[in-house]
Amino acid sequence: MQAAEMQETETGRRVRDDIRNVAIIAHVDHGKTTLVDGLLKQSHIFRDNQQVGELIMDSNELERERGITILAKNTAIIYRGIKINIIDTPGHADFGGEVERVLNMADGCLLLVDAVEGPMPQTRFVLKKALELGLRPIVVINKIDRADARQQVLDWTQDLFLDLATRDDQLDFPVLYAIAREGIARRAPDDDNDDLEPLFETIVNVVPAPEVEVDGPFQMLVTTLDYDDYKGKYAIGRITRGRARPGMAVAHISREGELARGRIGQVFTWRGLARVEVDEAAAGDIIALTGIANANISDTIADFDTPEALPTLAIEEPTLKMTFGVNTSPFGGREGKFSTSRQLRARLYRELETNVSMRVEDGSTADEFIVSGRGELHLSILIETMRREGYELQVSRPEVITHNDDGKVMEPMERLVIDTREAYIGAISETLAIRKGRMANMVYDGQGNVRLEYDIPTRGLIGFRNAFLTLTQGNGAMSSMLTGYSPWLGSIGTSRNGVLIASEAGVAVTYGLNNAQQRGQTFIEPGTPVYEGM
Ligand code: GDP
Repeated sequence: MQAAEMQETETGRRVRDDIRNVAIIAHVDHGKTTLVDGLLKQSHIFRDNQQVGELIMDSNELERERGITILAKNTAIIYRGIKINIIDTPGHADFGGEVERVLNMADGCLLLVDAVEGPMPQTRFVLKKALELGLRPIVVINKIDRADARQQVLDWTQDLFLDLATRDDQLDFPVLYAIAREGIARRAPDDDNDDLEPLFETIVNVVPAPEVEVDGPFQMLVTTLDYDDYKGKYAIGRITRGRARPGMAVAHISREGELARGRIGQVFTWRGLARVEVDEAAAGDIIALTGIANANISDTIADFDTPEALPTLAIEEPTLKMTFGVNTSPFGGREGKFSTSRQLRARLYRELETNVSMRVEDGSTADEFIVSGRGELHLSILIETMRREGYELQVSRPEVITHNDDGKVMEPMERLVIDTREAYIGAISETLAIRKGRMANMVYDGQGNVRLEYDIPTRGLIGFRNAFLTLTQGNGAMSSMLTGYSPWLGSIGTSRNGVLIASEAGVAVTYGLNNAQQRGQTFIEPGTPVYEGM
């Protein structure tokens, strides 16, 4: 960093004009990966023989398949000597708390909106947080090449801002039009620009440069954590004040205010998608540091002699719990590399190192563990990740975690948003009514599509996704997010009609399955070994 790049202000703080920190907010499939990929390519961070797309694909197989961002990751690009840290925000509200934390590292946000779908409920939630934090917004309407791109998307986006803006100047946001897939951003939908230059320029001009005390005592709030077997824990955050260097003695102040002394191991910043080791990083930049083994989200790492804590960040409570147990079926131990309770226990407790909203307790027997998380998706992702790592386990049906508020039982509530065809409204309403859902909004688009919004207890959503796919024959999309707690809404009728159980051990055959299918849905294929009672 050169002195010329920093302008001194009256307060002794300096504007670091060589850095911009921008969060990217997008609904699943609106083109976030494609856009970041384009920015990386056009910023020439990679050698020509490196495949940016492949690097992105590498980041997490499960995320790619599910089409959501599970863990917010950072990317850094260089544009005209300015480093732009792009802070990814999780694409699902089960990770809501993480959203708020990572937004804290940014000074601006880029809202990416699909030119057909328009803004979606989860982006609304994230944008609301971003505006509350005072981030300067930029809107990018993507996929304008699509034949069904809708003019109204800009109006919808403007309405959204009218609803959510906390300051007048947030209504005055720049809008760009993009074809991320071709690496194009335009200031007007029909100009003929053919690269992402307008977007780079807008980011640099609109997102404020960090204004920080570079020469003060070091101070950083831990915002996210990462872990690997070689270096152990990485504490990730934006340096609020001062500088970080490898080997530097520091104070570690926990969320609860306990003070410990420690030493930074290595310091990393981002370059492209990779973390690179550096000799020094200064306030305003986003870094990862090793060496603080028991660092936790919302702890402060500070100067050794000036151990001042930063304000803590909210960490959200889990809403659902499930029992994870050793597979006790007669086929136990056949499918996974790791199937003992000791292995399962170690893996679950390791998850707590980085997954802040997760809780693990020992269960009623040595073979069982109670795992609590932020929703079905949060838990199912852990299960799927463990399965891929070679763990074999059995899980119970999820149960909601209630609160006690002055003697009243309170349960978590969600806002459910469904996009589907009008023809399915009846079936969906009926099913949701049984599950204690209350319709909050219904919007027709005049072309046979409808958007339904419901307030529904988290309990009522358990297992609903499958029912929904069957009801709509795949013609629908649904998403939900936690909105708060409500007094217990009473018992929910179950829609489970019965189960099919194998009457003897052996291997399933087509003939037998055909018979079973006349009575219900089967989950196994011909050739699958079955045990009696399965
Ligand atoms: P993400 O889930 O937000 O990361 O979305 P992706 O970047 O994976 O994009 C989702 C899909 O939209 C992919 O199939 C992309 O090829 C496609 N896509 C991205 N940008 C554009 C675009 O500008 N035009 C069109 N037609 N498709 C796009």
